[in-house]
Amino acid sequence: MLIIGGGCAGLSTALRLQQLLRPQLRARRIELTIVEPQPYLTFQPLLAEVAAGSIDPRHVVVPLRTALPDCRVLTARVTGIDHATRTARVDAAPRGELRLPTEVPYDVLVMAPGSISRTAPVPGLADHGMGFATVGEAVALRNHVLEQLDLASSTRDPALRQAALTFVFVGAGYAGVGALAELEDMARTATKGFHNLGPEDLRWVLVEATDRILSEETPELATHTLAELRDRNIDIRLSTTLESAVDQVIALSDGSRFAARTLVWTAGIRPAPVLALTDLPLDHTGRITCLPTLRIADPDGTPLADAWAAGDCAAVPGQDGEPCAPNAQHALAQARLLAENLAADLAGQPLADYRPGGPACSTSLGLRRAVAHTSRGTRLTGRRAWWLHRARQLRRLPSRERRIRVLMDWLFGGLFPREVVSLGTIEHPRAEFESGFSSGGRGSGPGS
Ligand SMILES: Cc1cc2nc3c(=O)[nH]c(=O)nc-3n(C[C@H](O)[C@H](O)[C@H](O)COP(=O)(O)OP(=O)(O)OC[C@H]3O[C@@H](n4cnc5c(N)ncnc54)[C@H](O)[C@@H]3O)c2cc1C
Repeated sequence: MLIIGGGCAGLSTALRLQQLLRPQLRARRIELTIVEPQPYLTFQPLLAEVAAGSIDPRHVVVPLRTALPDCRVLTARVTGIDHATRTARVDAAPRGELRLPTEVPYDVLVMAPGSISRTAPVPGLADHGMGFATVGEAVALRNHVLEQLDLASSTRDPALRQAALTFVFVGAGYAGVGALAELEDMARTATKGFHNLGPEDLRWVLVEATDRILSEETPELATHTLAELRDRNIDIRLSTTLESAVDQVIALSDGSRFAARTLVWTAGIRPAPVLALTDLPLDHTGRITCLPTLRIADPDGTPLADAWAAGDCAAVPGQDGEPCAPNAQHALAQARLLAENLAADLAGQPLADYRPGGPACSTSLGLRRAVAHTSRGTRLTGRRAWWLHRARQLRRLPSRERRIRVLMDWLFGGLFPREVVSLGTIEHPRAEFESGFSSGGRGSGPGS
């Protein structure tokens, strides 16, 4: 069996299969291989808390080899799939020391390569924009925001100060809303340490092309989140697009122009590019067409033999017949059912349909702030919503050991003041050493 992608859906499928098929796996009657470019899962719903410094970056990743002792883990990227001949083409990741065959044959395929950020040809975006989907990006954004506060406090140039204190996020989905809310909260706290900066000096702008935020969540939760953010003086521009970011001057479709040294691009997602390099059936959005049993099927509903999919890459019909939204709640629940159906299929037993539960929605908006809906539809805000949100995220994190580590981070965070130091030099570890070679002038001669 070959699983493509070691994210929420891929790892959870493998974990459940490891439980269900343990005797066969140990006796080597079944071989389960997972292919993932990173040697770990990144639990993206907690990235905003990494950016805010509430969680150690290492605690939101789950090492695949530790979690999957009965599986073969290939640190590599799949570059094509020919399901007709049951063959995947695989490129070893540059860091990997494995000598991989370029073609991996399989009997059963599980597709879970998720989605990637959707970019757009906006002038200046590639030069000045940052993404927010990986641990590296979360840490870099945190350092960058804290560096802007240092810069604004130290400069005497008012234009530079204003640009440093203006933070623009484009795209109001999970990533944009979560990152902006957490970072705004962190920066507000950080200003207390500066003699010449206050929270009122910071300008936060959220730009969204559609007429609502959090399209992955229910409209009620989105409306409440919008009201909370606006109460915090966050400038939210709906039905507005980014037209240009040349020279760090932000030009929006509503005609406004202003300088900003921080531009975070979180404007939508699209299915993983590898899907277009397969012979699997895709819908008009590029996701794999699936039956409610998680089997891949042609658009006319004919299932493909030995092919399954779950998570963001899969168009799985929900209760209303529409494809489920791309979120962690569906990815994890689909993965579990996929593994159970796959094991049932091997045993010649009937398959169950995916029946999503009610949306368990919540958004963290900083320390002790959140908006949440209970499964019974009650709206919560503030601390109670925040605790519910944290409990949900903890339950979803697919590793008991990581859950304990995150819990410890949260407990320590409650005991001590928020950590607001920027460690930007981590991103350029050789810069100081290299400057010793390039600096001329006094004292740099031989023997000095
Ligand atoms: C910043 C952020 C915050 C979010 N917050 C929330 C939230 O609060 N609540 C919520 O429900 N959802 C949230 N989401 C969405 C949620 O993270 C995704 O819906 C979920 O991770 C989807 O799971 P997946 O397994 O389909 O994809 P992923 O978890 O993205 O996993 C896909 C994996 O496939 C790998 N892959 C891709 N291409 C290949 C290839 N060619 N070969 C091999 N492997 C490949 C990738 O490296 C990746 O590890 C958030 C997303 C982001 C980016």
